[in-house]
Amino acid sequence: MEKLRVALQKSGRLSEKSIELLEECGVTLDGGPGRLLVSSPDFPVEVLYLRDDDIPQYVADGVTDVGIVGENVYVEKEKPVNIAERLGFSRCRLSLAVPKSIEYEGLQYFNNKKIATSYPNILSHFLKENNIQAEIHEISGSVEIAPGIGLADAIFDIVSSGSTLFSNNLKEVEVVMKSEAVLIAHPKLQPEKQHILEELIFRIRSVQKAKKHKYILLNAPNDKIQEIIELIPGMKSPSIVPLAKEGWSSLHSVVPEKDFWQIIGKLKEKGAQGILVIPIEKMIV
Ligand code: ATP
Ligand code: ZN
Repeated sequence: MEKLRVALQKSGRLSEKSIELLEECGVTLDGGPGRLLVSSPDFPVEVLYLRDDDIPQYVADGVTDVGIVGENVYVEKEKPVNIAERLGFSRCRLSLAVPKSIEYEGLQYFNNKKIATSYPNILSHFLKENNIQAEIHEISGSVEIAPGIGLADAIFDIVSSGSTLFSNNLKEVEVVMKSEAVLIAHPKLQPEKQHILEELIFRIRSVQKAKKHKYILLNAPNDKIQEIIELIPGMKSPSIVPLAKEGWSSLHSVVPEKDFWQIIGKLKEKGAQGILVIPIEKMIV
């Protein structure tokens, strides 16, 4: 039987989350560390561990069918692969940063400056669009130390909290792109593999949807049920179970995480009691 080959980062910021996502999708991966290619016993997937920078090329060549990389790497490498799904983890941004002491007044600052980066393509597009003439100095790691050692005037690099910049006496002055992990795919998969990919994407969406919702149970006096149903409409409508105590019912429903605290406040106002909130593992709609 055909297997979908999935490339994951061997070790780095994407590795753990990528493996966790596959496991939540019912794709377990046994086989100890150090193995390059691991098959899943319960889903037609095999995982190939690579450096993240190499993944777009491998997917483009069809050596692997799909892969998980940062969107920043996908954009930088400019390979003919598609984004099959956005994954929402490893969020970061690519930004220009300058020494803290600079009085930065706008992009013109970068004219005739030297900028160190591991993302020369993204940077050169950005500079071109903004008519800035700067020298790009490509280095593959520890970009943030370049200004301190006199290698460059500024840097263009990944930022998440900004603490690395801060400890290197730099400040972020322009956000050029935002990034999250993405599942990239070869543009033309054979039908059997395409089918496996679609099942995998279906599972990923079920996991992601579940993470954005909570299961809620509460007790309410019967005369308040109608108003409470309006607050927690659920997937179709809430379940109502009569309590042994006369005049009371238990309601079960699903609420979006983002509105959660607001809804809880209103439920309390309506007289809901004994509110229980439970995480949802998978959500199939
Ligand atoms: P490799 O050895 O595989 O080449 P790397 O050093 O290039 O690894 P990592 O630092 O592990 O890469 O980062 C992998 C990806 O994780 C980045 O391309 C980016 O999308 C994302 N990322 C990087 N830094 C952060 C961060 N601080 N917070 C969140 N996501 C990040
Ligand atoms: Zn890398």
